[in-house]
Amino acid sequence: MSDLPQLVCASANPDKVAEIAQLLDGVVELLPRPAEVPDVVEDADTLVGNARLKAVAIVEATGLPAVADDTGLEVDALGGAPGVYTARYAGEGCSYADNRHKMLAELDGVEDRSAAFKTVALVRWPDGRELAIEGVCPGSIATAERGDGGFGYDAIFVPTEGGGATFSELDADAKNAISHRGRAFRGLLAALSSPQA
Ligand code: IMP
Repeated sequence: MSDLPQLVCASANPDKVAEIAQLLDGVVELLPRPAEVPDVVEDADTLVGNARLKAVAIVEATGLPAVADDTGLEVDALGGAPGVYTARYAGEGCSYADNRHKMLAELDGVEDRSAAFKTVALVRWPDGRELAIEGVCPGSIATAERGDGGFGYDAIFVPTEGGGATFSELDADAKNAISHRGRAFRGLLAALSSPQA
């Protein structure tokens, strides 16, 4: 038992939980999502709306404060798509690889490949208070997959501040230092430790 404040993690996605645990390490005790809580339907039309749906479900099931996040990839040449549909860009039940292949095909021959990852990290308390912070990572979509690390679109996303590497080619610390999720969660921690939180 630690003295750190406890938050139940609304995500059970091991790729995301590993990054979130690293970002909150030593500041928050992250409790795992209870296995019996069913997945929520993420049908809000904003990242903050989807993060709220996930957090509220966990607060209602556990009576404890919860932390949730939701991420979208916005590609300029696609008018900001896939945005809130990033997880299911290639269709319901698609794999990470399906999404990357579809993105590369859609951008075949496209010159302006600029894009941004956005994450909203949100804490919700049982009394209905909440705190939400957005983190943005500007970058571009590569013309082919590069690197073995990470998950999701990491092998085709080249962050502006990554020296030309894709997220997959960066190690976990280097990704967290500049990523959308790193920025959102560091912002959340700063806000949580401010006197008004
Ligand atoms: P979620 O809302 O956090 O589940 O993210 C939606 C989708 O965005 C995921 O299914 C992944 O495909 C993608 N995604 C989220 N975070 C990352 C990341 O850090 N790198 C690459 N892809 C990501």
